[in-house]
Amino acid sequence: MKNLRKRNGWLFLASILLCIFMLAGCARKYETVKAPALEEAQGGLGQEEGEETSPVSIAEDKTGEAPDEKSAETSSHEAAVTMETAPAFAAADETVYVTGSQVNLRKFPSAQGEVLGKLEKGVSLKRTGYSDSWSRVVYQDKECYISSQYVSKDKPAQETASTAPSVSGNGAGKIIAIDAGHQAKGNSEKEPIGPGASEMKAKVASGTQGTATGIPEYQLTLAVSLKLKQELINRGYQVYMIRETHDVNISNAERAQMADKSGADIFIRVHANSLNDSSIQGALTMCQTSKNPYNGTLYSKSLSLSKAVVNGICGQTGFKNRGVQETDSMSGINWCNIPVTIVEMGFMSNAEEDKKMATDEYRDKIAKGIADGIDQYYK
Ligand SMILES: [Zn+2]
Repeated sequence: MKNLRKRNGWLFLASILLCIFMLAGCARKYETVKAPALEEAQGGLGQEEGEETSPVSIAEDKTGEAPDEKSAETSSHEAAVTMETAPAFAAADETVYVTGSQVNLRKFPSAQGEVLGKLEKGVSLKRTGYSDSWSRVVYQDKECYISSQYVSKDKPAQETASTAPSVSGNGAGKIIAIDAGHQAKGNSEKEPIGPGASEMKAKVASGTQGTATGIPEYQLTLAVSLKLKQELINRGYQVYMIRETHDVNISNAERAQMADKSGADIFIRVHANSLNDSSIQGALTMCQTSKNPYNGTLYSKSLSLSKAVVNGICGQTGFKNRGVQETDSMSGINWCNIPVTIVEMGFMSNAEEDKKMATDEYRDKIAKGIADGIDQYYK
């Protein structure tokens, strides 16, 4: 009798434990993250073609550059790392908010995963899954990953007055269109160099890359453009971004037309320069000539904007001021119906300038300098 009661007691305890395990099992439904497909190696980095005609008038050929192997290596390595470490993700369906500033949004859940963009505090995201270290989120219809420590289900408090927009000057409320030059992969299909032109040019070149850092131009231009966006918003402007991720396919003519249609007042095209002569340094800006057959009437405004912007950058960074180059060979200028400038913020072919432009410090300075120029343009 005593034994029987004891056995019943054990059975009772065992069934309680079983229930607890089952409940715990149901609460967290695990799913395995799909291993990403190997990406095609990016081609043509460093070969500035079409839109990026060397702006300093030292005509040199650009053969002999063979940067492709390096980038192919990087992208397959990245995929390999991700597959080995792909964590299990608990499913979720909720809104989360970014709690830090300039938080990386990555293609894969890995610190080596390609950075698709940087997000500011307070941006809301749909979270579809998470592990201890990574959250899988949907941003602009794309699935990407963000470090779990920088997201929260609670909306962060509004910034205090010190960082609130200071609306002043003639530019207050004006819309500024920003184009971060290039994209992850160039597009060598052709398009007319201007409306109705018979001359054709590549839709969008793949851009250059840092001679010392290996950073591709499209990453540098977006990093600076996102800082510029924030700086302009802080100064009371509205901003229209042509792209906020690398994985886009937008031609230079299309970018100009997007800027027009956005209702923007001016168009800032952010690029970095490259030449075979690695000693050449400095910032410059570009605009159309007064005789441009497509938009020559915008010449004086574009020139005034270009001058103000290059002076602004050099004022902040101390870079050599190479002034304004006038050219009618840029599709992204020729297709534009608002004042426009191409900013060549510095030379990635110069090791010193390349290394500077790789730092947050100088990227901030460049963004502030461009914004100073825009303020000056509206004075
Ligand atoms: Zn460029």
